[in-house]
Parts: sequence; C-alpha cells; structure tokens
Amino acid sequence: MSYAQEVLARLRQQDPQETEFHQAVAEVFEAIEPMLERNPHYREARILERIVEPERIVMFRVPWLDDRGICKVNRGYRVQFNSVLGPYKGGLRFHATVNLSVMKFLGFEQTFKNALTLLNMGGAKGGSDFDPHGKSDGEVMRFCQSFMTELARHIGPDTDVPAGDIGVGGREIGYLFGQYRRLTNQFNGVLTGKGVEWGGSLVRPEATGYGLVYFAHEMLAARQDSLAGKTCVVSGSGNVAQYTVEKLLHEGAKVVTLSDSEGFVHDPDGIDEEKLAFVMQLKNKHRGRIREYAEAFDASFVAGKTPWSVACDAAFPCATQNELDEEDAGELIRNGCRLVAEGANMPTTPSAIQRLLACDVFYAPGKAANAGGVATSGLEMSQNSMRTRWSFDEVDHRLRGIMQTIHNECHQAAMDYEMPGNYFAGANMAGFKRVADAMLEQGFV
Ligand code: NDP
Repeated sequence: MSYAQEVLARLRQQDPQETEFHQAVAEVFEAIEPMLERNPHYREARILERIVEPERIVMFRVPWLDDRGICKVNRGYRVQFNSVLGPYKGGLRFHATVNLSVMKFLGFEQTFKNALTLLNMGGAKGGSDFDPHGKSDGEVMRFCQSFMTELARHIGPDTDVPAGDIGVGGREIGYLFGQYRRLTNQFNGVLTGKGVEWGGSLVRPEATGYGLVYFAHEMLAARQDSLAGKTCVVSGSGNVAQYTVEKLLHEGAKVVTLSDSEGFVHDPDGIDEEKLAFVMQLKNKHRGRIREYAEAFDASFVAGKTPWSVACDAAFPCATQNELDEEDAGELIRNGCRLVAEGANMPTTPSAIQRLLACDVFYAPGKAANAGGVATSGLEMSQNSMRTRWSFDEVDHRLRGIMQTIHNECHQAAMDYEMPGNYFAGANMAGFKRVADAMLEQGFV
C-alpha cells in the first residue's frame, strides 16, 4: 500500500459515512502519486494527514419562521479547510443534499482550486440543507438573516470571505450582507458576489462560466483547434450554465441542451442569445423550471435524465457532483465527444474520468476549469480593499489572463511528470504542490 492509500484507508475507517469527501481525496491522491514518489519529503513530513484535516468546522442551528409563522430549523455549516495561502474563501450552498461530507469535499477541492489561481486565498465551504425551491422571498430573507446571525462571528474580510454556490445567488448574498452589516456595524468586503452598487465586481456573475470557456479555449488552442462551429452539450441552467452558454455563443459554438433537477431540454437548432435571455428570465426572476423552455420554443424535454446521450463535440457539466457516470462517459465517447470541461465541482465520477482519459478525451477538471469564479471573487476582494471599481473589460481581461495561467500551470505540471495533455494529473499536482510547500514552510500547521 502506498503512503497515500494508507492515509485514505484511515480516513475511510474514521468517518465511513463521508463518501463524497473520500471521493474528492481519492481523486487528488491518485493524481499526485507520481509527485509523492519523486518527493519523499512529503511523506516524511506526514503532509497528507494534515492536508485532509480541516483547520476548523463550525456547525450551527438555523431557526427561522415560515410565512405561516411556523418555526423551521435547518443546519448551517462552515468548513474552514486551509488558510495557509490566505483568508478562507469559498462559496455557500443552500440545497437539501448538503451535509458534512459534501461540505468537506467542497472545502477540500476549493483549497487546491484557489491555489491554482495564484491569488492569496485559502479554502473553505459552507451552507445549509435549506432548500430555497418554492420558498417565498420573505422566507429566504428570514432564513439568510438567521444563518448570518451565527456565521458573522466566524468570518471577516481578513479571516473568511464566503461567496455564492448552488442556491445562493445575488438575492441571497444581498440578504446575508445586509444582516452582517447590521450585526457588526461594518461595511467591508466580507462576502463576494455582492451587488455592483454596493461593492460587487463587474464580471463576477459571468466569471465561472466565462472562465470555463476560456479554459476550454486554451486546451483546444494548444492543439491548433477552437470551439467555433462545435456542438456543445451543457447541463444545469443556473449561474454557471447560463454564462457558459453565453460565452460559447461568443466563441461561435452551438449549444443544444440545458437541464435542471427535473430533466433536460434538447434544442437541435441551438440556444441563441434570445433563447438564453428567456432562460435567464425564467430561472433568475421567475424561478421556473427548464421544461418551460420546451413549451416556449420548438424543443424537446426529456424528464428525469441528464443530457449526455445527445451527440456533441464537447460537454460542459455545470449542475452538480456525480452527474456524469461511466455509462454517460461511454455514450459521449461513442457519439464523438472530444472534450469534457467541468463547470460544476466533481460532476464526473472517478470511473467516468478514467474512461475519458483512457480514450484520450480532453478532460478539464473543475478545480482548474471552474476557478474563474473564485478568481474573480479574489479580484472583488482587491477592489474592496482598494476602495475602487474596475471596468467590465478590465476584470474580464484579468480573468482571461488568470485562466491562461491556470491552463499553463496544469499543462506544465503534467509535462514535468511525462504526462502531456493530462490536465487531471497536472491540475492536482500543481495545486497540491503550492499548498503543501506553503504548509511545510510555515511549520507544523
Ligand atoms: P445554481 O443554483 O445557480 O444552479 C444549479 C443548477 O444545477 C440548477 O439548474 C439546478 O437545478 C441544478 N442542480 C442542482 N442540484 C442538482 C441535482 N442534485 N441534480 C440535478 N440538477 C441539479 O448553482 P451554480 O450554477 O452556481 O452552481 C453549479 C455548479 O457549479 C455547482 O457544482 C457549484 O459548486 C459549481 N461552481 C459554482 C461556482 C459559482 O461561481 N457559482 C464556482 C465554481 C463552481 P434545480 O434548479 O432544479 O435545482
């Protein structure tokens, strides 16, 4: 058994129910094996045992009143995973599936993702099992205020700076920020993804989707190819999916699917700017279902399925974890898909990743490909500290540069270990090296 396998086995024994967390750790450990072999000092310093243990976990009660005056209780979390590179940074997720294992997997991923941006940000994740679907505005507001009443004492602009994730968009960040400001009597950059009029950065809403497409652009450009004219399949229809589609259209690609938790829509004519505007209105304003797209346009709706059976050149999973399994990967490959770039966190199962790599599909892991969101959050923090506001073009230009840098880092790390084109290995090794080396330099932390 290798050192990494030993540590993973111990972790599985210690907390057998944390399956998502173990999956995320196993993915990193598998990818960095060659690096551990070549650098025995990591094992000698027992770095893996330290790197898988969060620095701090906060779990708390979130009581709130629904519209009928009935008290509801949810569970809140903040997993402050690693602050060796900077203040904790990572999103808040409000979704019924949130539990400690999901929070730990996301915090762990976030640590290496943030390292890849080369900005000084540590890794964290938080959220609640609160399900915003079907809740009124007032209920969401009261929930956010109660959530922040406890969270406020654990965060701060130089300590921990949360952002959005599934179920937490501009509306929720507004309610959370308002309550933080009331409680602390301070107006500062404690959250990112804020409204532009009160400290938010231009391009932050677009950043994850745009960054994902910039990353895919770089991967293809390295092979003298481009996205122009390619047929693309996108899952999800939330923040990341919407701006992935927008940027794919800018690149001249054709997007034929979107989805939500009820199923997917297939539009063989392509989702154009006008149809995308309909989706944004539907999802962001009316909080409707994606099947309404099929009713509005000449498209089909497939209930209860993910879109991976649709023939495409490139696939962009942008909904949630483990949404693309080995069978899906096989179907994508059979139908001619040559690139899979992850907008979501850990959307591809381990066996599906192996299948894609074995068939030489260009695979972009989320911790590199979706890092544009947190990178732009980093830019929002810089603007807040400087009390300034950069233009859309300025932020977009910086985002593009950061995605190019991340691409090159992954590419180089893979080359250093004689695995050209393996972004799975490259991203994990480059992220791990930066975090692990900083931990060693800072002593037993
Ligand atoms: P949103 O809440 O805006 O959208 C999520 C989308 O995914 C919705 O269409 C939702 O459908 C669907 N979805 C969520 N859970 C499930 C599920 N269990 N099964 C099927 N569909 C599901 O979230 P984001 O777009 O912000 O996030 C999407 C992914 O991107 C997540 O993995 C997130 O961690 C990742 N990410 C987000 C970043 C950001 O900046 N926002 C940054 C980096 C990564 P429905 O409405 O029916 O629930």
